[in-house]
Amino acid sequence: MASIAKNWLDALDALNPGHPVRIMNVCGGHERAISMAGLRKAIPDFIELVPGPGCPVCICPEEDVFEAIQLALNEDVILVAFGDMLRVPVNVPKREPRSLEQARAAGGDIRPIATPMEAVRIARENPGRKVVFFAAGFETTTAPVAAMLAEGAPLNLLLLLSARLTWPAVAMLLDSGEPGFAALIAPGHVSTVMGPEEWEFVADKHGIPSAVAGFRPDTLLAAMASVLRQLQNGQHFLDNCYPEVVRPGGNPAAKRQLQKVMRITDANWRGIGVIAGSGFTLNEAYAAHDARRQYRAYADDSRKRIGEMPPGCDCAQVVLGKMYPNQCRLYGVACTPRKPIGPCMVSDEGACRIWWSSGQRDNAWEGRKKRQSVG
Ligand code: SF4
Repeated sequence: MASIAKNWLDALDALNPGHPVRIMNVCGGHERAISMAGLRKAIPDFIELVPGPGCPVCICPEEDVFEAIQLALNEDVILVAFGDMLRVPVNVPKREPRSLEQARAAGGDIRPIATPMEAVRIARENPGRKVVFFAAGFETTTAPVAAMLAEGAPLNLLLLLSARLTWPAVAMLLDSGEPGFAALIAPGHVSTVMGPEEWEFVADKHGIPSAVAGFRPDTLLAAMASVLRQLQNGQHFLDNCYPEVVRPGGNPAAKRQLQKVMRITDANWRGIGVIAGSGFTLNEAYAAHDARRQYRAYADDSRKRIGEMPPGCDCAQVVLGKMYPNQCRLYGVACTPRKPIGPCMVSDEGACRIWWSSGQRDNAWEGRKKRQSVG
């Protein structure tokens, strides 16, 4: 493996265009693999790897987290959510629970789960109670949630859905005219489900070289080499550097279940705003499983005004690749994984937490060595 990586690093050196090249890696899993392997230190200096909008917990609207907290506190329900969501902070007066974890301490029956099947099990074990599954995630998480309903979930299992598609956020950045990157590493897991074709617009419409990568250093390095070679040759296409897993058309069965259970809708992204066609909502046939229809009183539009990122938190800029995590003034100073202020420091897929966990401890502001802004 070491010699394969060395070969790729030599290949990257040979592709130096003589100026910096910013490459966005969309996926939180990619960012974790890159940071944990120390790839930023290993690759040539001319490559700037920018983490992108690949953390579903980070962009989950604050009003959705608030809605989940209120439901858990005020209704006789069991609220289940993937573990990361429990610590995501919302903006509330000091005396109120500011996360699902605090709501649990205040008496809410809130349980972390790791898979949709755990939600089904809890619903079956508690037939006399409603179980509300707060399901936030991108396509790879949402497909099994759709399968759970398509295959017949208990009627007492409801969904509080906060699911998102990844590509519309990248499309929004590209349509802005100032994407802040010259090439893209497209997400491997999402492409496995939805098909790599979903990312062809990056090259076809915007002329940006792109490559799908897996999660080992060699496949990430191969994707970097591919986009640099495309730039060098004046080409732009989508290269599949993860062919052992990512197949043309993706996973047809998973896509069929998604289509059967959910439809695409405009959706709010925390700190970013509404992105057209970037969310999922349940189809009419599954209305009986829709927590928002059964508990209408908890959807509170006024939260949209107060529910952005916490004061001083630059998560939105980090998610959009406009800042590196340690360019936030609070990084490692007031905000750490032990005491997170923003969602990017909570989630295992959040760039701030990943950077901190991988040993990146300097704050570019604190040390007065602020690097040049991304984008
Ligand atoms: S360091 Fe904390 S406050 Fe700053 S952007 Fe990251 S999560 Fe937000």
